[in-house]
Amino acid sequence: MPNTLIRNARVVTAEGEVSNANIGIRDGIIAFIESVAKPTPTAGVDRTQNFHTIDAAGKWVIPGLVDCHTHFGAFLPFEDDLITETKAAAAGGVTTVFHVILEPGPILPRLPYYLDAVSRYATVDIHFWAACMTEEHLHEIPTLRSRGIRGFKFFLSYKGDEMESVGIYGIDYAYLQRGLEQVASCDGVAVVHVENYELLQLHKQRQAGKNDFLSFCRSRPPLCEEIDAYATCRMAQEAGAELYLVHTGTADVIDIVGLFRDRGVKVYIETGPRYLLIDETGHRLAQPELALTTPSYKPATHLDRLWTAVAAGAVDTMATDSAANTLKSKLGDGTIWSIQPSWQEMPTSLATMITHGVAEGRISMPQLAALMSTNPARIFGLDPHKGALAPGADADLVIVDTETTHAVERCPHSACDYTPYAGHELTGWPVLTMLRGKVVMEAGEIVAAPGYGRVVGVT
Ligand SMILES: [Zn+2]
Repeated sequence: MPNTLIRNARVVTAEGEVSNANIGIRDGIIAFIESVAKPTPTAGVDRTQNFHTIDAAGKWVIPGLVDCHTHFGAFLPFEDDLITETKAAAAGGVTTVFHVILEPGPILPRLPYYLDAVSRYATVDIHFWAACMTEEHLHEIPTLRSRGIRGFKFFLSYKGDEMESVGIYGIDYAYLQRGLEQVASCDGVAVVHVENYELLQLHKQRQAGKNDFLSFCRSRPPLCEEIDAYATCRMAQEAGAELYLVHTGTADVIDIVGLFRDRGVKVYIETGPRYLLIDETGHRLAQPELALTTPSYKPATHLDRLWTAVAAGAVDTMATDSAANTLKSKLGDGTIWSIQPSWQEMPTSLATMITHGVAEGRISMPQLAALMSTNPARIFGLDPHKGALAPGADADLVIVDTETTHAVERCPHSACDYTPYAGHELTGWPVLTMLRGKVVMEAGEIVAAPGYGRVVGVT
């Protein structure tokens, strides 16, 4: 692998910004970042004679994104998803993707399969969470932790057959309490989907007979998340467990977490671009049903409060909860209740957050780097290699064009043949993605072969 020098980079990290810098990369690792007074001409820096140079031309260079919450194989075959969806990740500037392992039987005997599949099919690096749904899974937590997995996922929704088709089985409070104790015993993090199943049933019944986006959203009201957020935080306090709440769109959950943070409970909050951009009316989108997901979208006041919390540092991460499906399967039998949740959001997550977060003055670029890269890497134990632009870290980075605005046309490289953002004008597109010193995406083209990606942090 050639040594590389990226010149004229406007380097952004979670700590701040260097307005003009050269980034030296040796053997896939960042060797140095030197601030230079003015743009460097393309020739003549002694220490870099043996470097292949890339001119960033004053564009932002940020750490490769770490999307810590996604699902491969939810609706399409796992190995197919590993090929297509890790290319989609690279197109979006995502260099490390987490997959939630969902296994009906024991997870440990299946780990070699996952490690092997990544080495064959993935274009970007992969880490895992493990979903805990059975008695056996609870017992496996300490061993999985010793193999490098830190995030253990629990679903307080999806009981019965609701998500049977994608292999998700919800759990009850007693199981969660025991899971939290197991996680606490081995320095893990309990990753919890908080949404009260019983209340969901009631509100779903109240929307019966309706068939529109707003009714679907109202069948999953914020109350369901608040109730289970409180219960989960309280149980985590009791167990002494670190807690990570996924896909937070309910602003009141952040207030509830605040109560427990004040008591010394370590609770991380994840939100996602979709929850910051889409409200229960779906007014921003031409076809809001294409964005339907669970948990669903909230009244507009939640979005304003969520942005305020993000800006104030109360939210730790942004992840997409992406799962690829085709338009045909997404739309089900034509009723709003049969729509498959989620879509592939990785290609647009950076551009939507730069356009509506940074450019609209809600958050800074260093905050974005923290939320989308540095914090997820740190929380799940992938630092200092991932989530950083610093000497010694993996040379995972993205060059971002913040000058060009263009409309979203499709979901590139993905099997997901639609995007709810089609037609939406965005600024802040990744133009080059580098993973461990190798360019994997340039000008929209994927230039690394499947199998370049590695499993990181799990053996
Ligand atoms: Zn998820």
